[in-house]
Amino acid sequence: AAKRAGKGRVARFEATMRDSASERLDLSATLTGVVHRGELELHYQPIADAAAGRWYAVEALLRWRRPGRGLVPPCAFVPVAEETGAIVDIGRWVLATACRDLARLRRASPALADLRVSVNLSVRQLHDPRIVDDVARALGAAGLPAAALVVEITESGLVEETGLVLERIAAVRGLGVAVAVDDFGSGYSALGYLRRLPVDVLKVDRSFVAPLRADDEAAVALARSIVAMGDALGLRTVAEGVETLEQAELLTSMGCPHLQGYLLARPLPVRECEPVLRSGVPLAGRRPGAVRDA
Ligand code: C2E
Ligand code: MG
Ligand code: MG
Ligand code: MG
Repeated sequence: AAKRAGKGRVARFEATMRDSASERLDLSATLTGVVHRGELELHYQPIADAAAGRWYAVEALLRWRRPGRGLVPPCAFVPVAEETGAIVDIGRWVLATACRDLARLRRASPALADLRVSVNLSVRQLHDPRIVDDVARALGAAGLPAAALVVEITESGLVEETGLVLERIAAVRGLGVAVAVDDFGSGYSALGYLRRLPVDVLKVDRSFVAPLRADDEAAVALARSIVAMGDALGLRTVAEGVETLEQAELLTSMGCPHLQGYLLARPLPVRECEPVLRSGVPLAGRRPGAVRDA
């Protein structure tokens, strides 16, 4: 009986594998040409400069409006696009679209004239020598200065990378574009890589922000030391995934200059993002503690 049950499990397992394998094949075929078919969208999540009480940037976040399937989040297709190489075309579209949308936002309001756009780059895109031209062309076509763009590269993608990729990052940075380490602290970071890396911004992974409460000494100590390290290295620090006022207040008191998360604003289509950007940072002008009573 045990054997039969085991066989059943194996059969179920094989069926699942078959389903997910054919699903992946289907997905990789469909992803080819997704740019051409106009099915991609960018949503934008504002990032605050908490001290200045202004919006500092918007992060472009990719979505796939897949026919019959609704809006597909990046975790459901970016990894496959990275495997098949489709991410190179997709990433080029993301760069061009994000720059064009930012140029329009900047023109729409004088208050947004210095806004930046932060674009996620897959390390796979840095394996392609055309990346530096792609970045320069996206800026040029939108009429933006290089300082308007930040590219985010996840830590896990960076740690194992070798000379060539680091040279490409340096070349992108050489254009005047800022480079951010995304999801900082989420990997098995041998911190030494930060020294070799030509970067400007540290994005503290959500996993350090989520447990932050005034009465959790360990969580506070960890976040505080990451913020202090970013500061000591001369990097701008952005805290990701800020969901509560307590987290925002703690991070601000630690000297973390930039906050991003649902508390401040959710990712939104560019049209819906514009009024949020125009109306300013929701926490601006609030003294620590003052909001709890409100
Ligand atoms: P990421 O770059 O770390 O982006 C932040 C993610 O956290 C986004 O998820 C965002 O919607 C989510 N988020 C923001 N605030 C909060 C919060 O307060 N709480 C929680 N729980 N989540 C929050 P999203 O849009 O699903 O993107 C997931 C990941 O997909 C991104 O992580 C990034 O690594 C990747 N991605 C997104 N767009 C692109 C792209 O254009 N190209 C590439 N290569 N990767 C992308
Ligand atoms: Mg990011
Ligand atoms: Mg991140
Ligand atoms: Mg992330």
